[in-house]
Amino acid sequence: MSREGEKGLCRRILEAANDGVIVTDPDGAILEANPAFLAMTGYGMDEVAGKNARILNSGRHDAEFYQSLWAEVRSAGAWTGEIWNRRKSGEIYPCRVKIQAVPDEAGEASGFIGIFSDLSPLKDSEERLRNAVLFDPLTGLPNRSLFRDRLAQILDRARKKATRAALVFVDLDRFKHINESLGYQAGDELLREAARRLTERTGGAGTVCRLGGDEFAVILDTVQRSEDAGAAAAGILAALSAGFPMGPSEVHTGASAGIAVFPFDGTDAGALEKKAEAAMYEAKEAGRGRYRFASGKVGHTSRRQLELESRLRRALERGEFYLTYQPQAATGGVVPGTGAGLMGAEALIRWKPEGADTVSPGDFMDIAESTGLIVPMGEWALKTACADAKLWNDLGRPLTVSVNVSPRQFQAGTLARVTREALDASGLDPGRLKLEITETLLMDDMGETVTVMNEIRDMGVRFAVDDFGIGFSSLRYLDQLPVDVLKIDKAFIDPITDRYEGAQIATAVIALARSFEMISVAEGVETAEQLEALRMRGCDEIQGYLVSKPLDARAFRAFAFPAGGAGRPDPDPSA
Ligand code: C2E
Ligand code: CA
Ligand code: CA
Repeated sequence: MSREGEKGLCRRILEAANDGVIVTDPDGAILEANPAFLAMTGYGMDEVAGKNARILNSGRHDAEFYQSLWAEVRSAGAWTGEIWNRRKSGEIYPCRVKIQAVPDEAGEASGFIGIFSDLSPLKDSEERLRNAVLFDPLTGLPNRSLFRDRLAQILDRARKKATRAALVFVDLDRFKHINESLGYQAGDELLREAARRLTERTGGAGTVCRLGGDEFAVILDTVQRSEDAGAAAAGILAALSAGFPMGPSEVHTGASAGIAVFPFDGTDAGALEKKAEAAMYEAKEAGRGRYRFASGKVGHTSRRQLELESRLRRALERGEFYLTYQPQAATGGVVPGTGAGLMGAEALIRWKPEGADTVSPGDFMDIAESTGLIVPMGEWALKTACADAKLWNDLGRPLTVSVNVSPRQFQAGTLARVTREALDASGLDPGRLKLEITETLLMDDMGETVTVMNEIRDMGVRFAVDDFGIGFSSLRYLDQLPVDVLKIDKAFIDPITDRYEGAQIATAVIALARSFEMISVAEGVETAEQLEALRMRGCDEIQGYLVSKPLDARAFRAFAFPAGGAGRPDPDPSA
């Protein structure tokens, strides 16, 4: 065959091929592309001609991946493997790829051929098959076999990161009876509702699975202490103790739970499973509605706790919470007891039940956390604080508001959206909002947390680490974290005026903040001596009773705007 004839044949083969094929020059610029390639990527020939093949990169692989790929092409002449690529539409899809070097006479690459087959149709059907085998059709939860898989994965990670994990077995108490007396359909309905409550209650803190019948398992991958698992179990039992609507009436089932904690009760999946199950049966025997640790400790959701939970829920609906604001002032310009040097305020929540005294967060935060109520509560606090801060700024002082956020709000996966909404609804300059997070948040699942933090920081919002110095654990990550402020815990401020040891940690944190170009804020400053010691050490801001106790919205405005809002009347005298 003539050379021309050969070329024509090649072209016809390429046009008919199912696989996408491109030919590039030695630098990767695309010279030729066949119709299958154009169809797969969504580009027209004129859009790819002369472009570097890098336009396919999805961003899912790091530089190292491509480096080793090209090293292999250079040494072996070809590379074959799976890559995630990006279509013109932005969609990312899995691709089986072969890259072949085309050597010239001297053996140097004169160009490359790339052959692509789209794996997404295959992956889709694989996925459907997988779903059918791994998920319980009634509740949509992972079934026993996926449960084993997940548990092994979570234990693996806990082992590597030397963290804890807990396995909670949950069994409904009177399910058999309900199933027999009300029929299977009612039984199915109840199981679905139980699954929904379990998932809602667990939030992002773990994985809920249905092991079969009326038996569920919850794998908690974020427990710091065994008590956290106990609190989670108590919350789960509380959620299942509420009545299940069944036609015109409701039925009550309740549940029992057994808890095994990694690594204390076992270091492999099998051992933990046995222990959790045994503990669950013991809990049942001890009288239903309880949870029991494999280590032998027992607990149950106390009537008091259940009551407090439902009172908190109602308080949120009725608007019984309000925010107080504690002034934060510059160590340079502060005059204790006045608004001089005022930089902003921290929002601190209070609860005023009808006909009773105000309750401090210390008395309800634990329950709010363990029940997940902190998520809607925190959303309310964020929105309210932004609206108040907008008002201060409109009254003429550029003040910042700091809002505490709980790890549960991060786990709920809605924090970025809620922050955006709070800013948009209030019109507050994002640079005037700070979110206070704790070190423990940074300890579990840093990667995920940092992604969300970056998303929020891109809006212009800043982050403060609260109670810094207690764990010191995040120290080595500090330069990678999107954090702007370190708050020094009161425990390190109290002894700061002692001549010798007392000041060391506070001094170190202030210096650390400075070296990372962060702001240092001292908490719980009560005396003029402490202020002087902090000023000497270069601490930027203070917060504490010396400047002022937390004030309700109205009192805070009187503090910040002593002449009635810099000469302007109070726009909302009822607040
Ligand atoms: P925190 O963020 O460490 O807040 C500082 C606590 O120290 C506040 O207690 C404040 O009233 C108190 N304090 C401030 N200055 C002084 C001082 O000079 N001396 C003394 N002895 N105490 C001082 P509060 O208001 O009872 O809040 C307790 C905790 O509740 C807060 O600790 C925070 O972790 C949490 N919290 C409060 N509001 C919220 C909220 O809206 N969301 C979340 N997630 N947590 C909140
Ligand atoms: Ca705080
Ligand atoms: Ca604090």
